[in-house]
Amino acid sequence: MTRPINVAVLGATGSIGRQTLDVIDRNPGRFKLFGLTEGARSTNREAEYLVQGHAGEPDFDATVEAMVTDPRCDLVVVAIPGARALAPTMAALRAGKEVALATKEVLVMAGELVMRLAGEKGIRPVDSEHSAIWQCLWGEERENVRRLIITASGGPFWSQPNLDLDQVTVEQALNHPRWSMGPKVTVDSATLMNKGLELIEAHHLFGLPLAAISVCVHPQSVVHSLVEFVDGSLKAQLGRPDMRLPIAVALAYPDRLPDAVPPTTIQELSGLEFYDLDEKRFPSVRLAREAATTGGGHPAVLNAANEEAVNAFLAGEIPFSGIVWAVERALSDFSGCKGTLEEILEADRWARAYVRQMDGIRPVG
Ligand code: MG
Repeated sequence: MTRPINVAVLGATGSIGRQTLDVIDRNPGRFKLFGLTEGARSTNREAEYLVQGHAGEPDFDATVEAMVTDPRCDLVVVAIPGARALAPTMAALRAGKEVALATKEVLVMAGELVMRLAGEKGIRPVDSEHSAIWQCLWGEERENVRRLIITASGGPFWSQPNLDLDQVTVEQALNHPRWSMGPKVTVDSATLMNKGLELIEAHHLFGLPLAAISVCVHPQSVVHSLVEFVDGSLKAQLGRPDMRLPIAVALAYPDRLPDAVPPTTIQELSGLEFYDLDEKRFPSVRLAREAATTGGGHPAVLNAANEEAVNAFLAGEIPFSGIVWAVERALSDFSGCKGTLEEILEADRWARAYVRQMDGIRPVG
């Protein structure tokens, strides 16, 4: 009998982290919790490495590096929110580990550098849309792929065209109609910036040009994304909106875990709808496409400005519509850079400082 796979979970107290622990707990013969990082709460787990605190703190970063590069560690699940996941992801990849990535910001900021480090084996996506695309691509030749179609639930405001986005409260923005997720990604879903970030993430993960990746609104969140092939065939992956499925797929690849989630019934497949994205009302995907096309530090600016603006919104400092407005301002005022790791980190710092000094961010007109 082969030994269980030693899994390190970075961000074990967040939404993805807790669901990852659940998948590990329910498959004790297959997986062993090798290490974890905890935020404010305790998970009451035992492991070879247990790190408390937050990324960016010196002790935390050193111990995490030791955990993800430990020769006994097989697989690293990266679920620390935001840009702080970049350093441990790169450390794990440099050490040749399998990486299951939930934090899309890592690829948005430094997709080229990270994918180069990952090499042939690539990265296992945990984001549900990218897991869907990944599963559709298993066994397929890359030159036969014509287009990727990322589905978006649309978030809580898409279906309310007359709602004044200046008046949206934090509670309304956190009330996602389909998925249960952490606050940052839930607000990103409401602004549709989540899809902008996912567009860039897909571009790096699967090596397709940005022009070959589109976004559509699918309110039921049953079809998690689609792939179009050169012969006109369309493949999709379907299932309930339950993150334990993409987590199970990433952990068990190339195997599948029995009963990872309850099966989808035929009744749940009736009445599936798909719509074009209204990019005028929700310009985030266009901004992300432009930032990724420019490349260099622009995607990092998009990401960092968004993170800061979302925090300001959650703190009640700016209106909901100020989030995307701040990102657009930051992108247009950024002078640009090439895209070494140092330059990307500098672009990240610049965008954070830029948004923080924008007093009372508010769109004009
Ligand atoms: Mg997603």
